[in-house]
Amino acid sequence: MNYIEENLKTPISGEYDVIIVGGGPAGVGAAVASGRCGLKTLLIEQTGCLGGMQTSGLVNPMFDNENKSGLVREIVDELRSGGKFGAFWDMCFDYEYMKRLLDKKVTEAGVKILFNTRFVKTIVEETVVKGVIIESKRGREAFFSKMVIDCSGDADAAVSAGVKTYLGSQNGELQSATLMFMIGNTDYMQDGQNDLYNIMKENLEKPGCKYKLPFIHAYIIKLPGMRNAVVQLTHMRVNNPIDPFEVSQLYIEGRKQAVEAFEFLKTIPMFSDITLLQTAPLIGIRESRRIEGEYTLTAEDMVEGKKFDDGFTTVTFNIDIHKADGSAQNCIKTKPYEIPFRCLIPKGYDGIIVAGKTISGTHEAMASYRVTSDCMAMGEAAGYAVNRAIKNNINIREVNIKEAVPYI
Ligand SMILES: Cc1cc2nc3c(=O)[nH]c(=O)nc-3n(C[C@H](O)[C@H](O)[C@H](O)COP(=O)(O)OP(=O)(O)OC[C@H]3O[C@@H](n4cnc5c(N)ncnc54)[C@H](O)[C@@H]3O)c2cc1C
Repeated sequence: MNYIEENLKTPISGEYDVIIVGGGPAGVGAAVASGRCGLKTLLIEQTGCLGGMQTSGLVNPMFDNENKSGLVREIVDELRSGGKFGAFWDMCFDYEYMKRLLDKKVTEAGVKILFNTRFVKTIVEETVVKGVIIESKRGREAFFSKMVIDCSGDADAAVSAGVKTYLGSQNGELQSATLMFMIGNTDYMQDGQNDLYNIMKENLEKPGCKYKLPFIHAYIIKLPGMRNAVVQLTHMRVNNPIDPFEVSQLYIEGRKQAVEAFEFLKTIPMFSDITLLQTAPLIGIRESRRIEGEYTLTAEDMVEGKKFDDGFTTVTFNIDIHKADGSAQNCIKTKPYEIPFRCLIPKGYDGIIVAGKTISGTHEAMASYRVTSDCMAMGEAAGYAVNRAIKNNINIREVNIKEAVPYI
């Protein structure tokens, strides 16, 4: 079948020092650092709020925040002092206050935000990225920039530029997806991994129980200052997280599983009063494309607790792989290790770096540094590095990250 080759005339709407694609934890970190350095910064986000999976995906707790300085520390301390941080494992936050605080941090840094706007394409000359094309209700527009930071969670901008990416394990398996949902009217505070399973077990084994548990290590995650909790229970196999038909099916299946799980939980006496408040607006895709960068982090690096000359943050979260069929979690114990800045730099390309869960690492490795605080720290480091490169007129590969990030 032939396809239509479009001949488009796209208006050029502006020029920025830095354009950030995606306003999740990584994008927020990048925007705040870039803006605070005085760079003219544009942040493009397809939804109507910042936080990505952390807010629109109803993800909690904020893992690996304890050892972090910089923006992560600021956010945790400010939310905690207002009574909006704590509860489950003492690291959960109130979603609405998080959204408000992220808006505040990014706008106070002088960053322009475009919500409800989708990144479409990078403007690239050979291997140098020069800007992006976006689409919104206003139509299609081009913006030029000195540097693009891809924080899309899918490496959209990097792929569009031509950067090589990888997907899944060596045998092509990806971590399963979860649609988080929120319940009200509960004070239940879960303890360990098997705690909830033991409570559910009796009802699951009752004759006539039609409910089939999609995931054995379920969590009911109590939120601070309210009688609400988010539930991590739905689990679905993913073959291609970039295919919109498949992702649409995941939403439908996720909502089906969420309602079934909620109705099952209600049959347990201690949860008989719970209410179903909402399912997450964004589907929880744990694993997507990973770029080929100047260095590729491996599980061995993590087990060994490797430090690097260009290490900029320490990760203490273990490798946590939700099995492809969704049945359980596989954990590999790691020692505190560093992320080298080279993992954020796409091999063979200029004018673009990547932050967040799509940096250069193996399938196993990404199952550790993918958590929210580490993604925010990556974004922040990316913002400071870009500042150095632009102000000193040097290639991003020449930036000494330990000098560029003020709190290292
Ligand atoms: C079900 C689930 C549970 C998890 N549980 C935890 C947990 O308990 N604790 C924890 O710390 N981490 C958890 N994680 C991991 C963590 O949430 C993610 O890995 C992390 O949010 C990744 O951050 P990011 O900034 O790279 O990407 P994302 O959070 O995915 O953000 C990407 C942003 O880019 C936007 N975007 C994407 N494409 C485009 C485009 N083309 N144009 C414009 N905008 C675009 C998206 O809307 C989004 O806002 C969980 C993940 C999942 C899926």
